[in-house]
Amino acid sequence: VFAHLEQVPGDPILGLTEAFNADARPGKVNLGVGIYYDEAGRIPLLRAVDAVQRRLAEEGAARGYLPIDGLPAYTRATRELLFGVDSPLLAAGRVTTAQTVGGSGALRTGAELLKHSLPTARIAISNPSWENHRAVFGAVGFEVLDYTYFDAERHGLDFDGMLADLRRLEAGTVVLLHACCHNPTGADLDVGQWRQVIAVLAERALVPFIDIAYQGFDKGIDEDSAAIRLLADSGISNFMVASSYSKSFSLYGERTGALSVVCADADEARRVQSQVKRLIRANYSSPPSHGAMLVSGVLNDPELKLMWEQELGEMRTRIHALRAGLVARLDAQGAGRFAFINDQAGMFSYSGLSRAQVDRLRDEFAIYAVGTGRICVAALNDRNLEYVAEAIAKVAD
Ligand code: PMP
Repeated sequence: VFAHLEQVPGDPILGLTEAFNADARPGKVNLGVGIYYDEAGRIPLLRAVDAVQRRLAEEGAARGYLPIDGLPAYTRATRELLFGVDSPLLAAGRVTTAQTVGGSGALRTGAELLKHSLPTARIAISNPSWENHRAVFGAVGFEVLDYTYFDAERHGLDFDGMLADLRRLEAGTVVLLHACCHNPTGADLDVGQWRQVIAVLAERALVPFIDIAYQGFDKGIDEDSAAIRLLADSGISNFMVASSYSKSFSLYGERTGALSVVCADADEARRVQSQVKRLIRANYSSPPSHGAMLVSGVLNDPELKLMWEQELGEMRTRIHALRAGLVARLDAQGAGRFAFINDQAGMFSYSGLSRAQVDRLRDEFAIYAVGTGRICVAALNDRNLEYVAEAIAKVAD
């Protein structure tokens, strides 16, 4: 049955972690991952999450099956976080949300829904994008196009290039957009730029699909969902949102995500939800309960929600401080040209380092970064910052 199957290459980023783990050098640093580490180099267990976890353990909470589309208290709270409690779309019953297996599961379920509804549509993703975007949509049978996004010379967004490419897309093309903290570049759109992009999406009848995996990691919970709020106000009747709590609740392995679909009216939303449930039922039947119970326990308790907002704020502030710390130390090493790192948002930075320089970081300094030059700023801390800055300054000299 399997004799003819070839070995396929492993995921390059996960492969990097394997190489890092196998490296015996003390002081090694892994900047290749997409995980937020605290000052002690650990994945944090948020206090608000811990409080719910303890309560569930004490109660001996039952572990029955969740409904196919997830825990209702979780999906409702998720919708409110993404669209805002006062959103007219929510009041009109136009948004339907299903709990999914992480943000990845939301993308996959959304891709399958789109394939069913628009079988000949293509999808355009940013160049570059999170690599799994291409894989997920490709696996569902989409032809995946790129739109211009990043200007490597200026280390920032190529906004004119982006608009020009979006204008060239055929009507009905799905456009995947990162709401904030663009992975891998860290280059985001400001509100004025979002307005312009949304005008093009409307004018060209393109289908927006927002991926929001880092809500609250750049400016704040509401600010980071500006793209969703603006789309909601735009009059565009259909768009989709894939969201994830992996980062914002530090619940990576619990696979807490959601797919929200904005529909023309409540009736369409009910029909769409029935289709989403059919897709999930035939895929994994129903989502896992533990992570959803943790998130919903926090978001539906005003005190714990406030505690979480503060903890998320601490993570956000710390990432900004790490960026500033890295830039300042690089500057002190004579590498002042890295100031752009301060303008980038979220966990990642396209550092502009070449593959050869990334190789030198690994070989000479036991510092692991992605071959594209992407570094995870959230893996820095006060103990490794100086070392990393010195090493980058040396290889970039
Ligand atoms: N989208 C983007 C842009 C991401 O960076 C990630 C996580 N690396 C995801 C989606 C997937 O999130 P999850 O881990 O919840 O599946």
